[in-house]
Amino acid sequence: MNRFEEEFAAFCGVKHGVVVSSGTAALHLALATLGVGEGDEVIVPDLTFAATINAVLHANATPIIVDVDEESWCIDPNKILQAITEKTKAIIPVHVYGQPCDMDAIMKIADNFGLFVIEDAAEAHGALFKEKRVGCFGHISCFSFYANKVVTTGEGGMCLTNVDKLNDNMRVLRDHGMNKSKRYWHDVVGFNYRLTNMQAAIGVAQLERIEDMLAAKNKYEQDVKMTLAGMSNVVFQRDDLVNRKKIVWLTCILVNDGRRDEYVAKLNDCGIDTRPFFYPLSNMPIYQRYAIHPTKISKKLSAMGINLPSSQPLGAQALETLKSILSS
Ligand SMILES: *Cc1c(COP(=O)(O)O)cnc(C)c1O
Repeated sequence: MNRFEEEFAAFCGVKHGVVVSSGTAALHLALATLGVGEGDEVIVPDLTFAATINAVLHANATPIIVDVDEESWCIDPNKILQAITEKTKAIIPVHVYGQPCDMDAIMKIADNFGLFVIEDAAEAHGALFKEKRVGCFGHISCFSFYANKVVTTGEGGMCLTNVDKLNDNMRVLRDHGMNKSKRYWHDVVGFNYRLTNMQAAIGVAQLERIEDMLAAKNKYEQDVKMTLAGMSNVVFQRDDLVNRKKIVWLTCILVNDGRRDEYVAKLNDCGIDTRPFFYPLSNMPIYQRYAIHPTKISKKLSAMGINLPSSQPLGAQALETLKSILSS
């Protein structure tokens, strides 16, 4: 367990790693450790996996949903500024689909307003912002090692921090809140968010191969881009944004002709296992009351996006099928 924590933290350029049982547990542990709770507002992007907002709700805090930026698909720093109130305590930027958020702008806002930043890096292991790995910017950053993530332990997650005190407190809270020197003595109400050593050993082995895995996924994405190059209805995820080097988690495309659902159905009929993008949180009734700010861009991107398979190469034939369906 210690070895995985040390090696993953070092990979991200962060001092401490606290391994936990899932990415959601990591987010919840981060919020609890920073003392975010009832009456506090936490700003989250509209386009993300629901675990981001669920963790805020489980911490009894109030999520405030804001829109994303059209080019990066990540939380828009200007929209963060507009959403800050006296109750705002933290921001959770999500490096969505492997794309780093604008961490300069976000950390500057956080410093100006005295807010915590919890990076949700569940989908972006190894991505870079200004040559530094995501996960090294926030007060705490959270990773998932779920089966579909870049590094996986089946289920699993990790919190990273450079702050010694936060590291100590996370370790206590992860393990039932038990005092580290007085066994069965509890100073705080904790959780059981431990990971097993067996899973951590898988994580160590996975981490050894991360560069190869990222290179392979990148190659699959390049194959798709070559195949679909020049098609006017297809837009690729940006990989040329200043200061950012994204990774490929899922190969993502947008189709701008309004026929996304038709394409997804046809591709699935032909055995090409695609998914639509995440639904905007603001579209789901259970989260609607937290969507007090407009989220036009997230709604637009969500309706256009397709995730293509990216854990195995699409063969030449599948690539041709993809092209013919998208040009039909
Ligand atoms: C996968 C994911 C999580 C949650 O991770 P689990 O390990 O499944 O709990 C959180 N945030 C984002 C953005 C994710 O993609």
